[in-house]
Amino acid sequence: AELGDRLRADSPPVGRTPRVYAVASGKGGVGKSTVTANLAAALAAQGQRVGLLDADVWGYSVPQLFGVRRSPIAIGGLMLPVLAHGVRLMSTGFFVAEDQPVMWRGPMLHKALEQFLADVCWGELDVLLLDLPPGTGDITLSLLELVPDAALLAVTTPQIAARTVAARVVRMARDTRMPIAGVVENMAGAVCAHCGDSTSLFGHGGGDALAEQAGTEVLGRVPLDLPLREAGDAGVPVVVRSPEAPSAMELFRIGAGL
Ligand code: ADP
Repeated sequence: AELGDRLRADSPPVGRTPRVYAVASGKGGVGKSTVTANLAAALAAQGQRVGLLDADVWGYSVPQLFGVRRSPIAIGGLMLPVLAHGVRLMSTGFFVAEDQPVMWRGPMLHKALEQFLADVCWGELDVLLLDLPPGTGDITLSLLELVPDAALLAVTTPQIAARTVAARVVRMARDTRMPIAGVVENMAGAVCAHCGDSTSLFGHGGGDALAEQAGTEVLGRVPLDLPLREAGDAGVPVVVRSPEAPSAMELFRIGAGL
């Protein structure tokens, strides 16, 4: 827990104890990174000092979601996070060319994450969000060892079938005695761009079922909407680009409770 202590204590990289949320999902494609990026931008817009560590080392998407192409600057052995839309960012994606696969092995990944926590000059943070890789693999477990204070935010879709996969993440949190902050249901209903009506494309009940299993609550239900997907492709969080969009309003609301 030495690094956890460093994060917590008064050592230079992170000045004081931030609230730490590890955002996880059972599988890819449920919108975990999109939700994490937008919660970070929403919290920053509310005046909080926010760090976002993209720990999805193979499937990193933070550089794209924030439209960042530059690499972090290093000063005297410490790296400065990249600032975009008010959020301090760090991602393996900043260090590899876009079309280059990341083929690091376990020990190197652990080292990289350790450096992202200890050798990055995060400055004083109110909140640190960790975008975990999908599932319960090595990186996730390493990271939870490094940041023992993290609380789990589980992202799932309303589809009941997806819940079984997401439940593994909850079990992992239980096994490692990690607190569970809640469930975010994403892609909950599709809002029609023409008439504004909502259709339950992915069914419903998945978030509630997972929350019940985890002994926690559904913090919010983010609808499937066009502005969110467009914002992701444009490299600007939807809460910044289209704050009036249904997905953005819900993400603001969830962020305000974190
Ligand atoms: P994950 O991190 O779980 O793999 P992503 O955040 O990369 O998933 O999202 C997968 C895709 O779905 C992206 O193209 C993203 O823009 C899109 N997406 C995610 N959530 C929504 C939503 N609520 N409405 C519209 N598109 C979404």
